[in-house]
Amino acid sequence: MSSYNSAAIEEFKGGVWVFCEQRQGTMMSTSFELISEGRKLADELGSKLYGVLLGDNVEGLAKELGGYGADGVYVCQDALLKDYTTGGYTKAICDLVHEYKPEVLLIGATNIGRDLGPRLAARLHTGLCADCTHLDIDVPKYKDFLRASSTLAPAAIDSIKEGDRNLKMTRPAFGGHLMATIICPRFRPAMATVRPGVMKKAAFDQAKADACEIIKPNFTLTADDVQTEVVEVVKAAKKMVDLIGADVVVSVGRGISKDVETGIKLAEELAEVLGGVVGASRAVVDSGWMSADHQVGQTGKTVHPKIYVALGISGAIQHKAGMQDSECIIAVNKNETAPIFEIADYGICGDLFKVVPQLIEAIKAAQA
Ligand code: FAD
Repeated sequence: MSSYNSAAIEEFKGGVWVFCEQRQGTMMSTSFELISEGRKLADELGSKLYGVLLGDNVEGLAKELGGYGADGVYVCQDALLKDYTTGGYTKAICDLVHEYKPEVLLIGATNIGRDLGPRLAARLHTGLCADCTHLDIDVPKYKDFLRASSTLAPAAIDSIKEGDRNLKMTRPAFGGHLMATIICPRFRPAMATVRPGVMKKAAFDQAKADACEIIKPNFTLTADDVQTEVVEVVKAAKKMVDLIGADVVVSVGRGISKDVETGIKLAEELAEVLGGVVGASRAVVDSGWMSADHQVGQTGKTVHPKIYVALGISGAIQHKAGMQDSECIIAVNKNETAPIFEIADYGICGDLFKVVPQLIEAIKAAQA
């Protein structure tokens, strides 16, 4: 381990970076979310925001990132980067970081991001906070925070210069019972993976897209760097439910247990009349009643639809973590003290097997 070196930290003036994940030429929506969030952080730091886009023949995707706030995009194109590989992407991004020295590096906590982030952090010898749900910049007060809460020696804290501009990375801890805010005061770039769907996408601005600078850095990549070969990409035959992009989510909980088949059918019918999709609590997924891609919550997906309907869901803190920012929450639960009612805009205390058919009929009548 190299020791703390404030001079080295001060060299990292290359701005805020967002790894912009594309798969087979399609940009992942989390890239736009992170660019939008990165814009706010870069403004607070008074620095620039850059996307980092890797692939083969992907330059055409770069300008759109500008429309969500990127000042520029580093585009690395090579046949060896066509499909994601840990070795190839790590080598290319590490080379860029060594050359341009970003202060912050954000990555979506997708399957690829969860693989790439730790490998980069280890190779770059810096800290990574995984699965963040909130990001902020702490400029002046973090020394007090460290004195109060860390085990660092007072001399080590004093040696950190004020204005080290730490990224405050917040994530659920201890099974979601509290939120931990973590900083990386001694190394750069400060790295975070961020859960897809948590950060809101900014409005697209065509003028900013047009102004976005495309930078094609020099980098070298050989088959030895990549170490693996992607022989074939086989997509799952099953279509995954798009919870994150849905305007309406109707979720079911253990409250359907007395007749699971009918409970799911009712949720599907309600979702259909509302033009939405069906989600689930973890209890439902763990029971094998619905597949994991339906799960909403801390260890599932984070959604903020216009309407979230919770049917027979108690409202455990880990479930709320994934849906409490929905614009309008409607809860149906037969227990009037269920915690879900604390955050519901509309609460119906009753048996979902009786309430939901009436709701479906009423909505159909209103639509007729
Ligand atoms: P229950 O808590 O059993 O609630 C069922 C509700 O249905 C009750 O309120 C009951 O009154 C009501 N009900 C019963 N019958 C009817 C009826 N006929 N009509 C109307 N209402 C009825 N949970 C998640 O959902 N998502 C996560 O991502 C998640 N991550 C977790 C991560 C960790 C580390 C841990 C420890 C837990 C996590 N959990 C998660 C689990 C969470 O703590 C709860 O156990 C879970 O959310 C409970 O699911 P539920 O509300 O469906 O079931």
